Amino acid sequence: MSSKMKAALKKSDGTFEVQEVDRVEIPAPDWVLARIKVSGICGTDLRHWKKHEPELECKIMGHELAAEVVEVGPAVKNVKPGDRVVVETLLGDGDCDWCRIQQYNLCPNLYKVRMETVSRSFAEYLIGPATKFHILPDNVSDEEAALLDTFAVSLHAQQLSGLHINDKVAIIGGGPIGLAQLQLAKASGADVILFDVVPSALEIGKELGADEVVNIETEDALARLKRFTLGRGADITFECAGGPSMPITLPQAVSFTRIGGKVVVVGGFEDGDTPISLNWQQMQKSGISLIPSASYGFWGIYPEMSLCLDLLSKGKINAKKMITHAFPLDKINEAFETAQNKKDTGAVFIALTM
Ligand SMILES: [Zn+2]
Repeated sequence: MSSKMKAALKKSDGTFEVQEVDRVEIPAPDWVLARIKVSGICGTDLRHWKKHEPELECKIMGHELAAEVVEVGPAVKNVKPGDRVVVETLLGDGDCDWCRIQQYNLCPNLYKVRMETVSRSFAEYLIGPATKFHILPDNVSDEEAALLDTFAVSLHAQQLSGLHINDKVAIIGGGPIGLAQLQLAKASGADVILFDVVPSALEIGKELGADEVVNIETEDALARLKRFTLGRGADITFECAGGPSMPITLPQAVSFTRIGGKVVVVGGFEDGDTPISLNWQQMQKSGISLIPSASYGFWGIYPEMSLCLDLLSKGKINAKKMITHAFPLDKINEAFETAQNKKDTGAVFIALTM
């Protein structure tokens, strides 16, 4: 095995350059080295695209992946070389109150630790603690497995929401997170209305089981929502668009939600303060709960990523329909461009292949 590997490093203008760098090595007896097969581009990655961020310069990003184990430390028991795996790229410091009870998604050092270790999949190789590696069954492809991170994010949000059978659910945003949210809600017996501005995303939403899809730009979204919920508003609204659209979509989510309902914030905010004007009085008088959801981890005794792997393997959720494009790692800039221009390209999930 060469001591070098290919990796896409972030440049000062926010694009990438593929270079040869030192290959990562197993740092501890319970760690694993894997060769990456497929890596996805997440909405969080896109928010860094073409942005000048000195702290990310020359860094490797990426955190949705499928891989093949190539080497394991002497203490590793759950995987062996040759195993096809999905890797959970959430790693806390292992030291805080939240890590201690497996709520590492809330670890105050999560970002720092993961960026130095497991969240570096735009490269040939990756290392991580063995507990983060889950073996893939034969009926789950590498491309599909790379979407498990997305599904786990949506599953965590759904668990926090307390969604029940026959709930009327509104989802704002038909990107990978929104489409995963839709499928999990449908698999749990909810009725779902999906809102987006990209016609191709709404089309896929329809194919994935949305009861109704609405173009929020060209249709009277609130009227459609009211009709769908018999005038009451949604029991639960999931905000899955995130990023720069949040100042519009979060108030929209509140306006879609019924008295006593819940708004779950799944989409990610931009860094720093985000001024958002909300009708707080209406929220208070209506007893609407605002539930922020961050990444995923364990639900009870189960890692949420293995729950999603089980659902995928049993055909209860569909990742295949969400995979719209594939590019080799060398074309990572083209891949990001395609993801960014989703209105023209119809991109949902883009697989970077090694
Ligand atoms: Zn921690």
